[in-house]
Amino acid sequence: MRGAGNKGLLLLSALIASATLFFSYQQLSRSTDDSGSLISLDGRTMGTGYRVLLQADEAVNSSVNTELQAAIETRLVILDKTIFSTYVPDSEISVFNQADQGVFNASPEFITVLQRALEIHRLSDGAFDPSLKPVVDLWGFGTQVGRQEVPSPDVLAAVFGLKGLTDIRIASNAGTVQKKSGVAIDLSGIAKGFAVDEIGKLLEERGISNFLVEIGGEVLSVGNRPDGSPWQLGIEKPVAGEAELLQPIRAHSEKMAVAGSGNYRNYFVHEGQRYSHIIDPRTGWPVSHELLSVTVIAESTMEADAWATALFVLGLEAGVRLANELQLAAYFALDNGAGIQSWHSDAFNRYL
Ligand code: AMP
Ligand code: MG
Repeated sequence: MRGAGNKGLLLLSALIASATLFFSYQQLSRSTDDSGSLISLDGRTMGTGYRVLLQADEAVNSSVNTELQAAIETRLVILDKTIFSTYVPDSEISVFNQADQGVFNASPEFITVLQRALEIHRLSDGAFDPSLKPVVDLWGFGTQVGRQEVPSPDVLAAVFGLKGLTDIRIASNAGTVQKKSGVAIDLSGIAKGFAVDEIGKLLEERGISNFLVEIGGEVLSVGNRPDGSPWQLGIEKPVAGEAELLQPIRAHSEKMAVAGSGNYRNYFVHEGQRYSHIIDPRTGWPVSHELLSVTVIAESTMEADAWATALFVLGLEAGVRLANELQLAAYFALDNGAGIQSWHSDAFNRYL
């Protein structure tokens, strides 16, 4: 059985004090809170849902909103279908993955995300590894969906041997990416966060200075709600099917970028054992430890997204240690048999 819900994680709900904001996905739905009105633009992208919340006075009127949503959707289609989707055979990433080796012209977006992925791979001592794509597929969490069994050791060893992020070289000035082997990559652990930042940029370019953008639980909030109070974000209780608040996040600045990673939604159960979609690059097996979720607050949503995945792979002890070393604000939810407990890095203190 697969975990309920979207393919993407909805680890972080944009918990916005008033429950009236939990309206269903609907084009251009309109809702009001106690003190002002909010516009919600929502739809689907990257295998999950997106939502943009705006103040009604900034969004002006419905024809402007329709045009704005069209611009948002156009941008998301480029990021998803044209660049990062491994499900679309002629997306940039798929073309890169299908080739044996060579030098490729790459979009600035592809280069930005891949470059940061390589850096976080290095900083996390290999825990964040997008070159696990063939392994993710083999376990049934990528493009070969539907598999729900443990692969044979021989097949797993063969596929595991294909990983090798260090076989990729980026020449950002030339706008090219080179690969020396048939390595294939899956940027699902970072691209949603990047897309959130890109939609944030699009809104700012249009002079909108109070908004919240969310894709599959990765959130960027800027400015305030219509009543002048900061957007209220929170960490969801890591239990599939429940949308309950585990920990509110204290808003600290004009801009908050928050992302999460967890194993409680996207998994399958085989012979009583749970196998989740996040793979340990040291073994090729789904990560299996007491952690249920990791939430990171960072400078950008891309950063938060990649680090949440990396720290989740590392587990509680090594994850907290690295987060403290790098001064990352990270919150860990776990179940060690005594119910849900939590731990956080030093830098997270200010958000409690
Ligand atoms: P996220 O939901 O951001 O934690 O990303 C999880 C997704 O990233 C998975 O569904 C896989 O597609 C991919 N992935 C799995 N394991 C890793 C890993 N160790 N490093 C980077 N990406 C991974
Ligand atoms: Mg991630």
